[in-house]
Amino acid sequence: MKVEAARQRIMLEVAEVDGDLARVRHQRANLPEDRELAEIAERISAARDDATRADIAAEDLDREAGRLDSEINGMRTREEHDSELLNRSGMAPKALSELQHELAGLQRRRSIAEDEMIDLMEQQEAVAAERDRAQATVTSLEEESQGVRARRDAAAADLDEKTADLQQRRGAIVADAPGELLAVYDRQISHGKPGAGLLRQRRCGACRMELDRGTLSQLATLDEDDVARCEECGALLIRTHESGL
Ligand SMILES: [Zn+2]
Repeated sequence: MKVEAARQRIMLEVAEVDGDLARVRHQRANLPEDRELAEIAERISAARDDATRADIAAEDLDREAGRLDSEINGMRTREEHDSELLNRSGMAPKALSELQHELAGLQRRRSIAEDEMIDLMEQQEAVAAERDRAQATVTSLEEESQGVRARRDAAAADLDEKTADLQQRRGAIVADAPGELLAVYDRQISHGKPGAGLLRQRRCGACRMELDRGTLSQLATLDEDDVARCEECGALLIRTHESGL
């Protein structure tokens, strides 16, 4: 295949703009803000779990407090009833002594229950504080996430614009490129291989393989407009005065 040397070199421009496009697409697909957002989402989910756990603990404590409260009220009622009986006159000494004994027991048990209640209320306060803290964390992380999302959208829009510019530039370059070389180039790309590279310092610019002396001397015998391919990667091997043949 023969193509004028200057027109062969257009393929290097195609390869360069495709390299730029690939870089921009890679950046677009790997935005650091996307990683940040994923990380914040994880932290939000952890804080929500903390809030849920605190809610469940609060419900348990409320139930326990309710039970304890009715127990205390029950004891108080019985104490009042016993006190009333004690204040009445005409009780047999044995019954009186039993009643006093029961009253003292009730008072002692109520005092223990009331201490438990104080404990419980402290736990309720602690759990409520924990829930507030977790909820505040969720709120602040959600705000942070909004800020990151705005940055992400701006970065994505910027890269989309760059992609559009590069695609436009590629269109203009390709319009000038020789069709038969473009066909080779596109076939290479569709197989996941580089399309074109500059031969420089004995290396293929596409795959970086160093060419052996035999191949180089063979390339040196080619006419300027002969189309060469890299034996290693199959890319169009473009020779310029830099190629050192
Ligand atoms: Zn190569």
